Amino acid sequence: MQSSRKLKLPERIQGLGELAYNMWWSWHIEPRNLFKSLDRYLWKSTGHNPVKLLKEIPYHRLVACAEDANYVAMYNHAMTAFKEGITSPNTWFENEYPQYKDNLIAYFSLEFAIQSSLPLYAGGLGVLAGDYCKEASDLGLPLVGVGFMYPQGYFHQHISQDGWQNEEYDQLDFADVALSRVCTAEGKLLTVPVPLDNVSVYVSAWELKTGRVKLYLLDTNLDENPQAYRGLSARLYGGDREIRLLQELVMGIGGVRILRALGLNPAVWHANEGHTSFMLLERVRELVQQGTDFQKAISMVQATSIFTTHTPVPAGNDTFSLDLVDKYFHNYWGMMGIDRDEFIKLGTLETERNSYNMTVLGLKLADYRNGVSKLHGEVCRKMWHPLWPDKAEDDVPIDSVTNGVHVPTWISPQFKVLFYGHLGADWLEKHDDHTMWDKVDSIPDAQIWALHRWLKIKLISSILDRARQRWSADHVLPIQPLAMGALMDTEALTIGFCRRFTEYKRPTLIFRDIERLKKILNRELQPVQIIFAGKAHPSDEYGKRLIQEVYNIAKDPNFCGRIAFVEDYDMHMARDLVAGVDVWLNNPRVLMEASGTSGQKASLNGVLHLSVLDGWWFEGYNGLNGWAVTENTDNCDIADRDRRTADEIYNILENKIVPLYYERDLNGIPAGWVKMMKETMRSNTPVFTARRMAKEYTQRFYLNAYQNLKA
Ligand SMILES: *Cc1c(COP(=O)(O)O)cnc(C)c1O
Repeated sequence: MQSSRKLKLPERIQGLGELAYNMWWSWHIEPRNLFKSLDRYLWKSTGHNPVKLLKEIPYHRLVACAEDANYVAMYNHAMTAFKEGITSPNTWFENEYPQYKDNLIAYFSLEFAIQSSLPLYAGGLGVLAGDYCKEASDLGLPLVGVGFMYPQGYFHQHISQDGWQNEEYDQLDFADVALSRVCTAEGKLLTVPVPLDNVSVYVSAWELKTGRVKLYLLDTNLDENPQAYRGLSARLYGGDREIRLLQELVMGIGGVRILRALGLNPAVWHANEGHTSFMLLERVRELVQQGTDFQKAISMVQATSIFTTHTPVPAGNDTFSLDLVDKYFHNYWGMMGIDRDEFIKLGTLETERNSYNMTVLGLKLADYRNGVSKLHGEVCRKMWHPLWPDKAEDDVPIDSVTNGVHVPTWISPQFKVLFYGHLGADWLEKHDDHTMWDKVDSIPDAQIWALHRWLKIKLISSILDRARQRWSADHVLPIQPLAMGALMDTEALTIGFCRRFTEYKRPTLIFRDIERLKKILNRELQPVQIIFAGKAHPSDEYGKRLIQEVYNIAKDPNFCGRIAFVEDYDMHMARDLVAGVDVWLNNPRVLMEASGTSGQKASLNGVLHLSVLDGWWFEGYNGLNGWAVTENTDNCDIADRDRRTADEIYNILENKIVPLYYERDLNGIPAGWVKMMKETMRSNTPVFTARRMAKEYTQRFYLNAYQNLKA
């Protein structure tokens, strides 16, 4: 069903409807400007949501734009690029592998972060999946995504005056976003049954166009479902273990069935994280039902499946108790042609037969397995050695593909334009070409610095705007806008720490020696400020206490308003933050951060990374493009380790970062700093991209799986 038809638009600019219903607009400057210039106020108040904007805008305003020659010229230009962007056969994939252009890749993920109007993500995992789909579109990969449509999404975060995180859930109006119901040829709602215990729950889907790539987002809120199951798809990570199991069942089994009902028969199947592993089981069941024997079915599924794990600690993996598994699968294993014992074995380690582990299931049922950075690959091989006891640790068949970010989404439009001038009009098309990036050196320092300052001012004014909003709309205490950053200074060296608040990421490590930090922040003429943002998982009490600790320090006058906690971190805020601070701080316990991607976003905007050597930074750091904090892992006392790591951060700040930032020439430009900005853009941007990552998955995994299909 074409929902864009519901919008009433003047003939001359009719195409705005189709554009609004394809998220392609979100990573291109011209279409963004097309919507924004219709009505800047509505653009802002709808949270950059063109569907809502087109619904709310007065019709006479649309007529005026349709009669404005400049607007129409911009419209024509953007629409030509749009048509080309979603239909041209001149893409990397079609040029390189024309013989495979119809071999669909199904990509399953519980989260997709596409744009802030769609609350389908909690954090890094979702951003990765969203970035991947956008890049798949840019490269012409024949990919289709399967996820969930959560009308309440993940929560919005409000912090109370005593620093406690409150979670608020909004209800999305489906008519306000770029979704269309998936219907049958006869125009009826398409639904598929998924067996749960002794009933069936029906699953429908919404289609979200992301450039060329279609995402099918599952929804169980249907009249024919028992009340208890209608809310299954309402929230991300909102329920208990049983709800989670049911969600994953709907995702894995329902996802496969929806694709089949649509007549899609993917050649290759990619499970992003253990949440989606039931998809592999369902395909085994299908084959067995078609007459293939169980062992053969297993090898066919393995040969055409990719499993990506993101979790570096055993406890972080998704597991279910066996009574839950029995409750919901007792009718299912028979359909796979096996008994309970064999079924349980598929998802358990020999040494741990009483918990069903979704990562184990994924590793056993996919021949292509990977961690998400080189270091994480090593960690995985060690962690999952028990699954391959006969192999040496180094030979455990788990590879790695380092995560990357979608450059057109995460680079600020200002840098995009600057690079058009200096790297060439086609720089975005070849942004993973290393040699092109050498040209960054020739950009005048003054231009880079002016642009960076502009982005910093933009960030700080958006922080002030949020604080002002809360102050005036919610009548919070005066101290709260201060804690939210009302005293932020556009001239001070600014550090960002923005990510999920959880123990292993150590958000409060920088406060370990509070007196020393105070001196660093409050130095005369060389002030330093820190912006924090991030949510704690609703059931993570410790993470919430970490937020409270930061918030209370932000309220403390001794810190002179130089610590801020920005509420409700999301993609929109992240875009401002990764481009607007000077230094991006990352200090997880080593070997706990599988990859991390926020530092990659910062790097491509010339924001310098100060990070422990973990995840992607272990590969990205070259001695000149940021700072590495080494953590001594021999020392087993955690408190002692934390203290030493914090001391090293203070040393780097005092001896390197602060002096370099404040060393200015007569024009006020910090030449040494700008040199490092250029170096990080030159060395990191072409590498840590979703483009390089999608090419690797294609060349190392998908093409081989295609071959297996033929064999
Ligand atoms: C990029 C991003 C993340 C991931 O941050 P990490 O530092 O890699 O954990 C989380 N949330 C949002 C909103 C992001 O944009």
